[in-house]
Amino acid sequence: MKAMVLNELCSLEENKTPLELTELPDPVPGEKEILVRVSACGVCHTELDEIEGRTPPPRLPVVLGHQVVGRVKETGSEASGFEIGDRVGIAWIYSACGKCKFCLEGNENLCEDFKATGRDADGGYAEYMTVPEDFAYRIPDVFSNVEAAPLLCAGAIGYRSLKLTGLKDGQNLGLTGFGASAHLVLKMVRHRYPNSKVFVFARSAKERAFSRELGAVWAGDTEEESPKKLDSIIDTTPVWKPVVEALKNLEPGGRLVINAIRKEEVDKEYLLRLDYPAHVWMEKEIKSVANVARSDVRGFLELAAGMSIRPEVQVFALEEANDALVELRARKIRGAKVLKID
Ligand SMILES: [Zn+2]
Ligand SMILES: [Zn+2]
Repeated sequence: MKAMVLNELCSLEENKTPLELTELPDPVPGEKEILVRVSACGVCHTELDEIEGRTPPPRLPVVLGHQVVGRVKETGSEASGFEIGDRVGIAWIYSACGKCKFCLEGNENLCEDFKATGRDADGGYAEYMTVPEDFAYRIPDVFSNVEAAPLLCAGAIGYRSLKLTGLKDGQNLGLTGFGASAHLVLKMVRHRYPNSKVFVFARSAKERAFSRELGAVWAGDTEEESPKKLDSIIDTTPVWKPVVEALKNLEPGGRLVINAIRKEEVDKEYLLRLDYPAHVWMEKEIKSVANVARSDVRGFLELAAGMSIRPEVQVFALEEANDALVELRARKIRGAKVLKID
């Protein structure tokens, strides 16, 4: 099969073609696995972190890609959940142990043995991939392949972030940063919590205007004070300033959820501005969100199918994966970038 393979870590600034088009043997499904003919695979910021070594794959070469939609081509001898030809999706969670306390309580995203698709196991930048059948999902018919792919990452992690805020209908939610995941959170809130108001903090005036179009009641710059106190806030930025600045807007007992796989060191000094009475006192909480559990992927797909979510997509061929990554890094964002493979 054809695959775009990462052979070594590098800076995308210096190397604009980090992935190499390679002919690999077709993967063979294990007993409880399925073989998937990949139709589409979303391109995510996390791939940049993998290539540039901030979230390095444990072994190389590796096939990246964790927002995969395809058709079941073959089933393992003990896999019985899908028929050949079924359409399935695969997300960031590739597998977990299934036995530890986290797995048993449905928080397999916290499992010590958590494996990520396209990092710890070969992913969807290829014509075929295998996955344990328990970690594949049926895709609602309303979505085309390229529409469904980007929902599998930003949507599922947004869904989990929103769940972790504990937001109730009528409460106020803040969003710091307004990228793909925050868009989807705003849409979900409007649908599920029609009496809640959403307040957006973003550096870019364009993003602020866009959030107002999508129904945010207010949008301001990172350090601004929101006109109302917020019951919870979701931070999707890679830096510290928005975290510190957001805390002053929280209600007593409010919670800030950080949805970021890592935080940069560049503005870490901003944490020294943390003022205990203004930012932390009155039982304010900070919590991170790590990975996704299967229930988040299923929950989001079900919710999205009942809403008018239609992601804007920009389609690339498999062979153009490097171009998509370079554009993503340069923040040339015209909808979610998706590789159309079949
Ligand atoms: Zn992702
Ligand atoms: Zn486990």
